[in-house]
Amino acid sequence: MNAVAKRYGAAIVVMLLIGGIRAMLAPLLGTQAPLLPFLLGVFLCAYLAGRGPALVASIVTPILATFFFTDWPHDGPPTQWIAHVVFFLLIATLSSVLMHELQTRSRAEREALAIAANHAQALREADRRKDEFLAMLAHELRNPLAPIRNVGYVLSRGGSDPATVRHAGQMIERQATHLTRLVDDLLDVARITRGKLELKLERFSIRAAVDAALDATLPSFTEESQTVRSEIAEEELYVEADQTRVAQIVGNLLNNASKYTPHGGHVDLVVRREAGDVVIEVRDDGMGIPPDRLEDIFRMFGQVNPSLDRTKGGLGIGLALVRRLVDMHHGTVSAESEGPGKGSRFTVRLPAAAAPSAVAREEATGGPATSGATRVLIVDDNEDAGELLGFMLEQEGFDAVIVHDGPAAIRAATTLTPSVVILDIGLPGMSGYEVAMRLRENSSLSDTALIALSGWGSPEDKRRALDAGFDLHLTKPVFMEDLRRALGTLTAP
Ligand code: ADP
Repeated sequence: MNAVAKRYGAAIVVMLLIGGIRAMLAPLLGTQAPLLPFLLGVFLCAYLAGRGPALVASIVTPILATFFFTDWPHDGPPTQWIAHVVFFLLIATLSSVLMHELQTRSRAEREALAIAANHAQALREADRRKDEFLAMLAHELRNPLAPIRNVGYVLSRGGSDPATVRHAGQMIERQATHLTRLVDDLLDVARITRGKLELKLERFSIRAAVDAALDATLPSFTEESQTVRSEIAEEELYVEADQTRVAQIVGNLLNNASKYTPHGGHVDLVVRREAGDVVIEVRDDGMGIPPDRLEDIFRMFGQVNPSLDRTKGGLGIGLALVRRLVDMHHGTVSAESEGPGKGSRFTVRLPAAAAPSAVAREEATGGPATSGATRVLIVDDNEDAGELLGFMLEQEGFDAVIVHDGPAAIRAATTLTPSVVILDIGLPGMSGYEVAMRLRENSSLSDTALIALSGWGSPEDKRRALDAGFDLHLTKPVFMEDLRRALGTLTAP
């Protein structure tokens, strides 16, 4: 029986029940109040079944009452009974409408309360997860900081033999790389969540991205004495994608393979063509994944064993990022594992692209950076950062001069006429943008290239830098390779 028939049927049953009770009371009531008990039935029908059934109940009532509980037309003037009936119908209709309204409102209130309770529960859950995440994040950020501080302590107390210094340098580089990866992942998550992540699409050979990812993760494999075998298709496979992001995707998978595979384990990286796709497969013989978690690990913060994974240094966002990035490239990524202890296999598929023309290939590979004794003016209010940048540039053969504020930068630029000025944006007093505009007003500096260095790297920040007269915007932290490439491009004849 459908719901409508049930509601109407229930109304008739209620009215018949009330009629039965009224009939039982007939010896007591006689022909007195033949309609009144039925009013209760109309209320009930309106509340439980709605307006329609209440209307039917209201119409059924006079018929029942007339035949069973009155002597009409013999117990008075017929018009008197008709007036009673009309009056009853009026009251019944009015009360059904009011009752129905009441019932609708109370149902809406009950629903609103239930929704609010659900929201409150979801907010409490989100709050708990945020607290957990912040605790984990603090832990993860502290981990690399301790060795960096300790190395600083050792070096500042004269640990100066070359082997110690080299070892210390490698340690700092390793920890800083880890820290950078964490912060980059967090920034990417924020960008993706706000829909602000933009891909720089270009056509390139997948080998380039895979090699970059392998290079970046090789230290982890070496440290864990793990063997990496790569099997890359002989033919060049091209994709139309963001090269840095593809390297990030492969890098994340390789990094996980190393993290979740024991000391001395094996990792295979296979790149091949399958129909219209370039397939990248990362296999390991590590701890594996329970089959019911194979999808879950691609969710934000999805970790199979958070307490264990934390000691391995993860925030549970790497695979979520991989999935979003692969999606943005119109590809797919999936995980397979025969279960705990049986290793894992991650497969990324990206749409293959045709090979670029020969001219485009030459342009893409570009010439190497040139340095020579080019003079570079560094402007950074963070003295350590400025000194370090200067030191690195000197090592590369540049002639570096360092100043720490805007007015000093303008003075130094005017007297030295450097080939490049690397300007921190967040300077006290006079911002980097302002300094850049003042330098651009000086005609003797028309050949000087300006590089903005900033912690903010959104497209708006970059546009603002170009508007202020900068030739290039670099986002902190800047690595030597990026800087060398930028200087090479800007100082090329
Ligand atoms: P994180 O490594 O920071 O925890 P990810 O998003 O990169 O975060 O990975 C999510 C989870 O997936 C990991 O915590 C781990 O439980 C599981 N996982 C990822 N890669 C592997 C792998 N190669 N072998 C086993 N488990 C893995």
